[in-house]
Amino acid sequence: MSYSPKSKKSHGKPQSKSAGDKQFAPLKPATVTSANFSIDPDALHFIPLGGSEQFGVNLNAYSIAGKWLAVDCGIGFAGHRFPGIDILLPDPQFLADRAEDLVGLIVTHAHEDHIGAVPHLWKRLQCPIYCSPFTAEIMKLKMADIPGNERAKIIVVNPGDTVKIGPFTVGFIHVAHSIPNALACVIETSGGTVVHSGDWNLDPTPVIDDKTDEAAFRAAGDKGVMAYIGDSTNAEVQGRTGSEYEVEQGLTALFPEIEGRIAITLFASNVSRVRSICRAAKACNRKVVLMGRSLHRMTGAAFECGYLEDIPDFIEERDMDRLRDDQVVILLTGSQGEANAQLARIARGDHQYVKFNKGDTVIFSARPIPGNEEEINAVKNNLSATGVNIISTGDTAHTIHVSGHPCQDEILDMISWVRPKIVIPVHGERTQLEAHAKLARSAQVPSVVVPSNGSVIKLTANGAEVIDHISTNLLAVEPNRIISAGHQAISARRKLQFTGIVHITLVVDERGVLADDAQITTMGIIDPNDPAELQFEEDIAIEVEDALAELDKGSDVGDDVLAEQARVAVRRMVSQALGLKPKVSVHIVRL
Ligand SMILES: [Zn+2]
Ligand SMILES: [Zn+2]
Repeated sequence: MSYSPKSKKSHGKPQSKSAGDKQFAPLKPATVTSANFSIDPDALHFIPLGGSEQFGVNLNAYSIAGKWLAVDCGIGFAGHRFPGIDILLPDPQFLADRAEDLVGLIVTHAHEDHIGAVPHLWKRLQCPIYCSPFTAEIMKLKMADIPGNERAKIIVVNPGDTVKIGPFTVGFIHVAHSIPNALACVIETSGGTVVHSGDWNLDPTPVIDDKTDEAAFRAAGDKGVMAYIGDSTNAEVQGRTGSEYEVEQGLTALFPEIEGRIAITLFASNVSRVRSICRAAKACNRKVVLMGRSLHRMTGAAFECGYLEDIPDFIEERDMDRLRDDQVVILLTGSQGEANAQLARIARGDHQYVKFNKGDTVIFSARPIPGNEEEINAVKNNLSATGVNIISTGDTAHTIHVSGHPCQDEILDMISWVRPKIVIPVHGERTQLEAHAKLARSAQVPSVVVPSNGSVIKLTANGAEVIDHISTNLLAVEPNRIISAGHQAISARRKLQFTGIVHITLVVDERGVLADDAQITTMGIIDPNDPAELQFEEDIAIEVEDALAELDKGSDVGDDVLAEQARVAVRRMVSQALGLKPKVSVHIVRL
């Protein structure tokens, strides 16, 4: 610290609680403005309410004849911008305002960015949920976590099924993706037909599911598709995404090159990858241990649906010690560096049973989601410190990961099968959406519209037109409440991370004159264990007292004036001394 102490002076401790200690009742989530909204009921409209210009928090809405159909309802990871928050939800208020006319929610697959918000938001939507058998298994487990969701009606649909949902006739098509049983939907209405792709790729040799059903997409194209609304994740990536079978071959070749224990981390939902790892382990006589709640949950659902019947039994964690290091493969969660996941806990020596030692190898069989790099590196640093070998994509000639999303050649194939008049890219940030749009234009699609969340897009045979915009929002999930992501509490936390806070307690008489020393406590500004730095709090108190003494006491001074005078003085002083602009809270006690 680089300030000069003013003088020594003793101050008592604050007697009363500051405003920051108040307990708040749970707040109602903020609402999205949707008053005075009207659209032509004869035309088909599409509104992305989440997931366009961002990864995650997918929520899409279609409307015709005064009715609404939602597709997907997922979470996003909060990251550093939301201190204290792990996950974000799309704000469903626009649909909740129309819940009587909301005829259904289709969940295309069981990835968190498509299914994860349903348990939190279903009570506000109250509509039937349509999904595939595997997605339904996961949905039931997730819905059971939150009371009140047991009333939700989950309707299981299979590829090839056609279901009438209000004015929407929806056909389901199987697509290959990095989770089983993913569906695209063909939404037929009196205003035209839309293909909504969900997440997909054209894996030529999927490990557990069939290939994407090209014939069904071609058949939709033959009947006539007005609009294709699709996955943009890899729209900037040339070529094709590759195959899960290449990963199986890659791991089968890699495992025998490793001598000690092998631990491999992946997305729990990648059931194909789990199967490939089990087969690669069996080929080199290793047994597989599963670690992590979500891996148990996903593999349990996969067994229920008949996906993992041909793999050897997993061994229990506690039986691992009976095997030599070169007889074990540990399959575990935490590929994104999540602090509470198994991998991060073991890496920092914080796991009850498992310790990694020199000679063990950890394989990252997953791509880092943008924004998670820092957490992933922290885990890797901890692993390196204990002498663990780390293998990530790029460290080995063997294929250890492929994406579940379509690259450019696959997107062009899809457009050629479906032959839409309109393409609307979704599921990506602006750069991916624009790359997808460019591809569509290169394929001579007559009408291409890049949406933002809240774009109200009218779809007709003449093309797509953005006719309006509704405000959208994100919600933040705390342990006991859901609040707007723009809530003051979160912006204050964000600010506090950088600047610290000064609490001032002023005891004043009825005229506003200080009746006792100003009492100061700070957080994030000084080291309270260092007496020299503690002096700074006393200097702040003197600064406040001097500033208040300057106030004209000719008439009674109100709380607002006192608080502002103190706040300005403290900010000026701390700014001059330390270059910080802390948050200042003032608590006034009147005698
Ligand atoms: Zn997705
Ligand atoms: Zn997905």
